[in-house]
Amino acid sequence: MEKISIIVPCYNEEKALPIFYDELIKNIKKFPENIDFELLFINDGSKDNTLNIIKSFKQNKSMANLNIEYISFSRNFGKEAGILAGLEHSTGDYVTLMDADLQDPPSLLLEMFNYVKNEDYDAVGTRRVNRKGEPIVRSFFSKLFYKLINKMTSFEMVDGARDFVFMKRNVVEAIISLKEYNRYSKGLFSFVGFNVKWIEYKNIPRVAGKTKWSFWKLTQYALEGITAFSTAPLIVSSIIGLIFCVVSFLLIIAIIFKTLILGDPTSGWPSLVCIIFMVSGIQLFSLGIIGQYLSKTYLEVKQRPLYIIKEKTLK
Ligand code: UDP
Ligand code: MG
Repeated sequence: MEKISIIVPCYNEEKALPIFYDELIKNIKKFPENIDFELLFINDGSKDNTLNIIKSFKQNKSMANLNIEYISFSRNFGKEAGILAGLEHSTGDYVTLMDADLQDPPSLLLEMFNYVKNEDYDAVGTRRVNRKGEPIVRSFFSKLFYKLINKMTSFEMVDGARDFVFMKRNVVEAIISLKEYNRYSKGLFSFVGFNVKWIEYKNIPRVAGKTKWSFWKLTQYALEGITAFSTAPLIVSSIIGLIFCVVSFLLIIAIIFKTLILGDPTSGWPSLVCIIFMVSGIQLFSLGIIGQYLSKTYLEVKQRPLYIIKEKTLK
């Protein structure tokens, strides 16, 4: 029997979870009967009733081909940690990641399954074709982010891509094998490659509860995406330093000639400015180089766990 694992990271989702669960069950029933399901909730340190709701799903489940499991973190570690824990603990031949707020429609699951099962695809990704219902400023910065990051990385990050993906086991293993601490799932998914089918849908507003993403959090997430996959910002600092050096060098030559021809009315001042320019330029330039090495090392050396489990139903 083939098994599909459905991973659902949840943080304070008491309002959305029951609606999500009903909708999901409806769609699971559309699958052929010889398929097993593993529904794996990750409770990411919720402060509301989320964990109890998950437990009640487990107690009251009625389908024979459905297993409900959960992992509960000791505190909030963020969605990326939840995704990793889910991938590492999932046992299905196929694995999919879904938000608990129904922004990832379960009605697409069967179509996604058919692509990887019957066609030559290893994974199916989803992307939003519009951003309706989202603040304009946020959409603007999202677009800018994708333009920037695609200039800086050697593989393509799809604009509007969601974390809602459906993967074969080999893709899951590839993603787990990337042991980095700063995880940016969309990037990791693009990085591992494979034959991916992209399907599109219109943005769906969250069914209940509130988004956990403030503008500030999103900005930090974007910066994480950039630093995790590119060292271009460091190169920029080197380039600025280099420009400073060249400009000051030209200025020094110009001033020497000017002084020789016209004399020097305020002695010392222009040359001093040039020297300050040059020295600070060189400093910035070297800092840039050191920074390149440091950033690579820094991210790797800590080796902290990405999440800590307080309670779980799986091995
Ligand atoms: N989530 C999580 N940990 C967090 C923040 C969010 O597990 O620290 C979950 C959340 O419960 C939801 C999914 O990640 O299932 C997406 O979160 P949200 O809907 O707030 O993000 P958005 O859809 O607005 O990008
Ligand atoms: Mg959402």
